Amino acid sequence: MDEKKFWDRFNILRKNLYGNHYELEKLVTTQLEEEGIDFFKDSRMWLLANFESTLHIFCELCESSIKNLNQNMLVRLLLTYAHLNDLNNAKRIRKMLREEGVDKERPTWLDGVDDFQPSENIFQGKIITAKYDKRIEDLGQFLIKDFDKIEEFIIQEWGEILPKKMYFNFIDGVGPSPFNNALCDAYFKVSHFYKSKFIRDYLSSGVVHETIHYLENYYLNKGAFRPTQNEVSSYKFIDEGYAEWKRTEYLKKHSEYKVYTDNCAYHILGSNLFELTDLKDKWFKVMFDFLNFPIYETATSFTYFLEDKFGYKHVNRFWDAIPDYKNVKTWTDYLKIYFKTDLEDLMLEWKEKILKNKGNQESITEKIITYLKVEKRDEKGIILYYRSKYPLWAGHNIFIYDDKMKLQSIDKVEKYRFLKEGRLKMNPVKSDKITIFAHFFQYSQQFLFS
Ligand SMILES: [Zn+2]
Repeated sequence: MDEKKFWDRFNILRKNLYGNHYELEKLVTTQLEEEGIDFFKDSRMWLLANFESTLHIFCELCESSIKNLNQNMLVRLLLTYAHLNDLNNAKRIRKMLREEGVDKERPTWLDGVDDFQPSENIFQGKIITAKYDKRIEDLGQFLIKDFDKIEEFIIQEWGEILPKKMYFNFIDGVGPSPFNNALCDAYFKVSHFYKSKFIRDYLSSGVVHETIHYLENYYLNKGAFRPTQNEVSSYKFIDEGYAEWKRTEYLKKHSEYKVYTDNCAYHILGSNLFELTDLKDKWFKVMFDFLNFPIYETATSFTYFLEDKFGYKHVNRFWDAIPDYKNVKTWTDYLKIYFKTDLEDLMLEWKEKILKNKGNQESITEKIITYLKVEKRDEKGIILYYRSKYPLWAGHNIFIYDDKMKLQSIDKVEKYRFLKEGRLKMNPVKSDKITIFAHFFQYSQQFLFS
């Protein structure tokens, strides 16, 4: 069919992105048969990345102009090869991305995706396919055990508008999780997890988080704007915070998590590690510069602030409401109109509140860390051994300040996150006295240690 007819039809179908998935696929494959591959060249290539039946042609087209592909398209190509389990090609593209400096900009982000070797045993639900790497069989089997529960939760919550298929792959790696939103295919790095109910629930709630990202796509397609390249940071600040805010509903810890994220935000905002506006202007830089700090939790605290100010319903409907604002033409305007204020002003108000309250006033004081000792101290740094009542993750549940109340960067020594017994490492500090904070959901602890 001619170009205009194709796009008119495409744009109508796209208003119900997931509901019309197979109709969209049919439209694209018919066009491919009738008009040939040339129709999908260059700026239209991305269309082919969305459907199982056109993935091979997508890869072929990318390869034919590989020198001209921008980083986003190369990442898309890598994730498509990984989805097709074509590891040789995935590895080749990964190498290209590394040479282009992607690893420098976003450390660990793509690690292991090109080496994913799926197990025989998988979870196959109505929508969700969950696989784990066969080299972590024991852990993988344990982690996918509750996937029927999480699938039930998302179907109850969003039903008809969910993607037809969603994929979750557990890989043997550490770091942020990349996802391919064209195929709703996400990679969770699980090397730092072990078999515990706490961790399984935490990971399952990650499915809610990713689902939010896919649904944003659905709502944006119904609306009148898409975030531009300049708006990507403020978009991420809002969307990661919202996705984390929403996952607490699966955990049934909505109010408890608020206390925790406000306390995290207190350490981040109070320490002036970066400009407040960097959260909305340089999201990726902040996120990758401060991998050991709770940046996602800080964004989540902001979503809770919006909930306090505008009510649960208004915040909850933030994405669903996009199609109702037909006259709003940009993401920035949408934020301003939906929350009746400039984002920056809201952020300032939030920061003031967090600092004034020293985190969250509803924190319940508790002896979270029950035992602490210096295990090693030399010119290279300090290693502390701790025992605690709850599973803790260095830099996220535990914060350490020197005698000048400067927040220190700390890391875990053990491979695993969320340990009730473990060690922390930090750079040397001049004074003998350090101040320790521990936060776990609604519980909080602060003490001087020397
Ligand atoms: Zn996310």
